[in-house]
Amino acid sequence: MVTLQVRDVAVVYGERPSAGTRAVDGVSFDVPTGEVVALLGPSGCGKSSLLRAVAGLEPLAAGAVLWDGADLAGVPVHRRAFGLMFQDGQLFAHRDVAGNVAYGLRGVPRAARAGRVAELLDLVGLAGYGSRPVATLSGGERQRVALARALAPEPRVLLLDEPLSALDRALRERLAVDLRSVLVATGTPAVFVTHDQDEAFAVADRVGVMHAGRLLRLAPPDELWRAP
Ligand code: ADP
Ligand code: ADP
Repeated sequence: MVTLQVRDVAVVYGERPSAGTRAVDGVSFDVPTGEVVALLGPSGCGKSSLLRAVAGLEPLAAGAVLWDGADLAGVPVHRRAFGLMFQDGQLFAHRDVAGNVAYGLRGVPRAARAGRVAELLDLVGLAGYGSRPVATLSGGERQRVALARALAPEPRVLLLDEPLSALDRALRERLAVDLRSVLVATGTPAVFVTHDQDEAFAVADRVGVMHAGRLLRLAPPDELWRAP
């Protein structure tokens, strides 16, 4: 089975690693094909740093990130074929919805792009939105576009850093459920970082609890707080 493996990863900030902030400390977990893992913990516990390290945006002070058994050390961000999504979807303001999604399809033959854009918009619940300027969209709609754009190149794994945190609570719950449906429908494995337990439980097959740079436990939502 193709798997993302995170092995004893540490991330340390500062000039001298020995004296720096140990933001992530010896974290290990796997994400098998089609599984969604949430990393849950308070602000500052190292979730973002860990996700950035997996993406290749942050150097590892220790440990390794492997895809399908191959160590990704030295493999640059764009060659990892991982999808990324952040709290602010960072849409291209000068392009319409279809143009934003099509950005993720640069490798696809031109003739096939319009059809793929329509499929992706349908998938995220935005059928018919293609020609809307992104400035006219709600926050939730913008994150749906960001999700469609991130999925367009069919990433090996999707890394999501608090993608719903800027939205209203009611909207967040609905979007968390929809997001899970999209990941399951496309079979995209994902790592979803959040400080919100309801969100983590709605999205993930397994939830990892982080505290002070460490992963304390990792279990399905209904087993997470059960005594070991
Ligand atoms: P979370 O995503 O859980 O809020 P972060 O990974 O952002 O946590 O931060 C973990 C720790 O690392 C915090 O103490 C934070 O201040 C520190 N940190 C994060 N980014 C940097 C950075 N670029 N330089 C120095 N310290 C950082
Ligand atoms: P960049 O030069 O930044 O890579 P482009 O402007 O070339 O971005 O756009 C990326 C791809 O998306 C291009 O191949 C372009 O043809 C396609 N594209 C842009 N806007 C649309 C749109 N509205 N509908 C379909 N394809 C689009």
